[in-house]
Amino acid sequence: MSGARLIETAIARFGPKVALTDPADIAPWLTDWRGRWTGASAAILQPATTEEVAALVALANKLDVPLVPQGGNTSMVGGATPPADGGALIVSLRRMNSIRSIEPGHAVAEAGVILETLHHAAADTGQRFPLTLGARGSATIGGLTSTNAGGTQVLRFGTMRGLVEGVEAVLPDGTIHDGLAGLKKDNRGPSIDQMLIGAEGTLGLITAVRLKLVPAVHQRAVAWLGLADPDAALAVLRALQASTDRVEGFEILPADSLDAALAQIDGTRAPLAAAHPWNALVEATSASPDEETPDALLTRLLGPLLEHGLIADATIAANEAQAAAFWRIRDSLSEAEKKQFGPATQHDISVPVEAMPRFLREAAAAVEAAFPGTRASGFGHLGDGNIHFHVRAMARANDYGGDDWINQEGADVTRLVDDLVTAAGGSISAEHGIGQMKRTELARLSPARVAAIRALKAGLDPKGLMNPGKLI
Ligand code: FAD
Repeated sequence: MSGARLIETAIARFGPKVALTDPADIAPWLTDWRGRWTGASAAILQPATTEEVAALVALANKLDVPLVPQGGNTSMVGGATPPADGGALIVSLRRMNSIRSIEPGHAVAEAGVILETLHHAAADTGQRFPLTLGARGSATIGGLTSTNAGGTQVLRFGTMRGLVEGVEAVLPDGTIHDGLAGLKKDNRGPSIDQMLIGAEGTLGLITAVRLKLVPAVHQRAVAWLGLADPDAALAVLRALQASTDRVEGFEILPADSLDAALAQIDGTRAPLAAAHPWNALVEATSASPDEETPDALLTRLLGPLLEHGLIADATIAANEAQAAAFWRIRDSLSEAEKKQFGPATQHDISVPVEAMPRFLREAAAAVEAAFPGTRASGFGHLGDGNIHFHVRAMARANDYGGDDWINQEGADVTRLVDDLVTAAGGSISAEHGIGQMKRTELARLSPARVAAIRALKAGLDPKGLMNPGKLI
């Protein structure tokens, strides 16, 4: 009822465009990207200005209507899907999609700007926004900020938290917080901007963000390394980092993940002549012709490591097509593994970088011992201490009949992996957030953190109207 009143009032005040109410228009936005959660909502509110957002949030507060902020709906954890009871309304900032300004070093983008659009706009000015991910054609600046997204360049440039210079947002009572000045020094108490980054829409609606830009890439070089184990990979990473800050990506993958890509993804070829237990993909860049070329840089730095045997074999992509082919192997691993090995539980986890080799060894052994017939392994961003840890279950899955293994044993496997991650001082969510998927585990493993977030939430949103059922 209150939702209907809100919709009516909003349309009367701001015109028909402010709310989509046709079920056919709403339907595609009710289910998450992976198809795991489906909710209900009577409308998608789509305000066009910060003032309209503020008015709608104030009205929702008055009428006790829960709101679910939604960007590109690419959340991997059901973060932007409305609850099933239909009482909440989705708020999409898709009409707030202008880049308000681009200057040397930074841009101010509205929350509805799609990441790829920002990439193009930055490129037009000889710059780049140094964060990218597979969902760049759909993910929005509001969603990326609210999830503190990462991606493949975190090693050099950090997550959104390091790239956001200021946030404009509407807080749950309808007041506007304006942090877009991007002050380098601002000691008026704790940072409201930082509080909103990674809050998953539970503490307010982000309407615009001031973002850091860096010079465009002039050249890149991509190397493929054959390695004995993750310890060798870490030693190579540290050796590179001791000599340069131009390494942007350092991804590792075990032999069977590479085999899966070569077997399942059309057109892929083994980068090295022989197989190695582990592989690393390394990317370095230059920003101007005055710098040593990335190819020369990697040749100079990797050569001695190869001579000393830390690296078993290495090749540097001869051209851009080969560089793209190396990355294609890395980017297709999830798909390739699913085709090759069947169902797997997938864990987006992080541990301190130095602890990663040991974690990979010990956690894999512990999981395989607890669930005989499984194979546990990880691939991904070694340089960020962030691995996609997959527990595959071909042998066990056959007993259960395919995907049903995940329904039967997935939660137990997840609990064990999360316990191991926590014991290693790590995080059960490195990149994707908590959303609906990891709430129970977060509460189980991080009671102090959850109590603090709850207290913050109770103060700012005492009625619990902003993105209910997510994060905490
Ligand atoms: P949504 O999914 O719509 O929302 C995400 C969360 O943000 C929700 O809690 C929502 O309520 C909140 N939200 C959205 N907009 C606002 C707003 N304006 N104000 C307040 N809250 C808001 N993530 C990574 O970090 N690294 C990766 O490498 C990566 N790769 C991916 C690859 C694929 C193929 C896919 C599908 C996803 C990937 N993701 C990755 C996850 C996802 O893309 C990110 O979480 C992204 O930040 C979500 O952006 P979005 O606009 O789609 O937000």
